[in-house]
Parts: sequence; structure tokens; C-alpha cells
Amino acid sequence: MKQNERHMNKELLRKLPKIDELTNNEKITGFLDNITREQISIKARQVVDKMRKDILAGNITQASEVSFAAAVDALAESLMEDCNSLRRVVNATGVVLHTNLGRANLCASAKQAVNDVCSAYSTIEYDPAAGRRGSRHSHVEELITSLTGAEAAMVVNNNAAAVMLAMATLGRGYEMIVSRGELVEIGGSFRVPDIMAESGVTLVEAGTTNKTKISDYEKNINENTKALMKVHTSNFAIVGFTEEVSVKELKALGQKYDIPVIYDVGSGLLADLEPYGIQEPGVKKGLEDGADVILFSGDKMLGGPQAGIIAGKAEYIAQMKAHPLARVLRVDKMTLSALEATLKEYQSPENALKNIPVLRELTASKSELEEKACALKQVIEDACGFAKAEIVMDEGIVGGGSAPLVRLENPVLAVECEGKSANELEEYLRAGKVPVIGRIRNDKLVLDVRTIFEEDYEIIGEKFGKL
Ligand SMILES: *Cc1c(COP(=O)(O)O)cnc(C)c1O
Repeated sequence: MKQNERHMNKELLRKLPKIDELTNNEKITGFLDNITREQISIKARQVVDKMRKDILAGNITQASEVSFAAAVDALAESLMEDCNSLRRVVNATGVVLHTNLGRANLCASAKQAVNDVCSAYSTIEYDPAAGRRGSRHSHVEELITSLTGAEAAMVVNNNAAAVMLAMATLGRGYEMIVSRGELVEIGGSFRVPDIMAESGVTLVEAGTTNKTKISDYEKNINENTKALMKVHTSNFAIVGFTEEVSVKELKALGQKYDIPVIYDVGSGLLADLEPYGIQEPGVKKGLEDGADVILFSGDKMLGGPQAGIIAGKAEYIAQMKAHPLARVLRVDKMTLSALEATLKEYQSPENALKNIPVLRELTASKSELEEKACALKQVIEDACGFAKAEIVMDEGIVGGGSAPLVRLENPVLAVECEGKSANELEEYLRAGKVPVIGRIRNDKLVLDVRTIFEEDYEIIGEKFGKL
């Protein structure tokens, strides 16, 4: 080995991080919810030993490769091996429909239904009464039609799939008309014009961004027009000098020219949340107003599993069921069992509000939230002598591209910990087997109790206890 290489090795070896500094880092101590300090130290030693060997073998030649940050990352990665990548988190953001955190939580009956069918054989495509093959669609169709008033219904992978199937079935090779104000993008990967193009339908834009009149639709109708489409602008609002065409107006126009109305309503609201200040277009109303086909998500305000629900006129649903894409976009038994159980909750509106987590969280009263905040404050301060949790008012949002103008009144906890910055605390809570996801506001860590379950208190308490 050359003299200067040996010299460089020495430099690098001197830079190797110290074990106790590594194990005390916020990204690492967060894992204490899963394993002990001793086990973490053993893993830390293994990480640093490996770095030492790599330096001596000449595999590491850059100081950046032995930096403290690199060692923390390597150690965190090694600790992660004991956790699943897809795992539960505590949602302390207050965003009820958080797309990155899995949108709706299933209600207890849905969880039970999934549990019952997922590790056993099931009636997914079998009719036990007749003793022969049954239809996958049969399990939820009647529930959907009785809850919404539609003639027929089917379920696909998500609402994006529902839109695609409806367009491809009813309009491939032809034209559909959509208002310019409703050419929305949702969640970065769902864009109405793109889905339309993929479905083989030519998009015809009507009106302008802020104003579309029924005459704008009518002007664009020709012999190639296969549908008049309305898309709910779920995740934004245009205010001021605006005008949009209602489903009722579209229906009247559709009847004049014998063209169906397709309505992508987005959120799939089946409950009445108006008394709680949440106004989103409901599915039933959309159908009553005259939509021939209505499309919505299963895991937004409906509060069920990821799914896309298509409901409406039997003749159109029958065509969609027979389309080859229906097989491509179909859902499995876990989805169907969860959806069936969730929909059954809606047979009694009180049950739905009480048992479906999304609805329960959205309709929680201020005093209920204050009580939760008080209880969690106690848990945190009891667990950690140098933590201070203060109840303050903040604004929450519905999330998941739903009801963008609704601001939820929220008592939340603003937490401070002596000797730790808000960022350090946030990072600490985010690490480990059950990450706790909060947000930072005014240099304090904010935990929003609206989306925290009572079962989560123990997890949060344990984390603060190990700070
Ligand atoms: C959310 C949404 C979609 C996409 O639904 P996914 O279930 O996420 O695929 C489509 N259209 C509208 C109007 C939406 O709000």
C-alpha cells in the first residue's frame, strides 16, 4: 500500500462516527418503540465495523461515505429490516383523507369481513344457493343501488379506473364534451384529458375556465358526441365571476339529443354532512338530478377501501361489465368484502356516522376534540418530564382532494421538549416501527387529535417516554 493511501485511510478511520452519538440521534432513537437500546448499539457497532473494513479494503475512499449522516442512514436502514415497509402510522396531521397515509381507515365491520375472507376460500364468484358459478359484481350491486337509487352498479380498482372504463365503453372512437373549468388534475397522476386520451375518446372542451353555459355544450354537439360529461372540481375552487352547468341542465340537453350524462362526482359522499358544515355533492343527488352514469371513489368520503364505483342506467353498466377493461380493472375479494361491510353501515345513517372512521373524524365536535387533546396532553407530560403540551386552536382540512374550502375548527396539541428543536422532535417521532406523523407550526410540533385514535395514545406515550 502506498504511503499516501495509508495516510488517507488513517484520516478516514479517524472520521468514523462514535457509537453513542449514533444511537442518540433522533432518527435512531425513534426505533426504540421496536427494539432495546442494547440491540440498537449492537447494530450501530456492526455498521461502523463494516465502514472500517471497507476503508481498509479500499472500498471507501471518500470522507462523505463515512460521514455521520451516512452512518445514521445505514443504521436506520439496518433497523428498518425488522419492520415492514408498508406499516401502520399514527396520523397526527389532522388531515382526515390523507392520500399519502392511505386515505380512509376501514370501519371495524369491514376489517372483520376482510379478515374472514382473505385467508379462506370464499363465495367471490360462486353462488352457494344455486351450487354454481356466481358473479363477482353480485356482492355489492344491490347495496349500491338501494343506497343511491341507481338501476345498476359495478366496482373497479379506483375512481380513475371507473372514469377510464366509462369513457372507453361509451365513447371510444368518438367525442365527449367537458367544461374547460372541469379539466382537473387530482393527485398528480389523474388528469381528465389524459384519461380521456387513453380511453380513445376525443375531448371536446366547452366554455372557459371560469364560465361555462349550457349553450357552450350545445354548440359542440354533433353526430360523434357520445356523452356530456361533468367532473366535480374536488380539490380546488374557482371563486368570483363564475358559472357552471348543473347536472339537471346537462340532463335536459342530453335528452334533447339522446346523449347520456356522465358525472364524475369524486368523493362518493353517501351521508348527509351538511349539518356539520361540509358541502360536497352527494351521489344520490347526482343521480336524482339526472346523471345516467355516476362515478366515485370508495376510499374518500365514503370511508371504505380503495375502489371506483360506477352506478347508473342498467344498459350502460351492462356494457361496461362486458368490456375487456372490466377484467383488467377488477377488484379482489379483500376490496369487495370491505366495501360490502362499509356499505351495510349506511343502511342506518346513525350507524354510518358512528362507525365509519372518516365520518366520525369529520363530524367530531369541538368539545370531543378538546377532551381528546386534554387526555393526550396528560399522556405526553406523564411520559416525559421535560415535554410541555399546550392546547391551541388550529385549522384542519378534509384532504384527499375533497371539500377544499372547508376549514375544520381544531383544538390541537403544540408540543415542546426541552433540549430538542421542533424539527428534531418531529424526526424522532417519525422514525421507528410505528411512525407518528405530525406537523410543525410556529416552531412547535403540532399533534392534531382529530385523526389520532385513542389506541394511539399508548404508542405516543411510549415514544415520549423514551426521549
Ligand atoms: C379523487 C378523484 C378521482 C380519482 O379517484 P381515485 O379513486 O383516487 O382514483 C377522480 N375524479 C375526481 C373528481 C376525484 O375527486
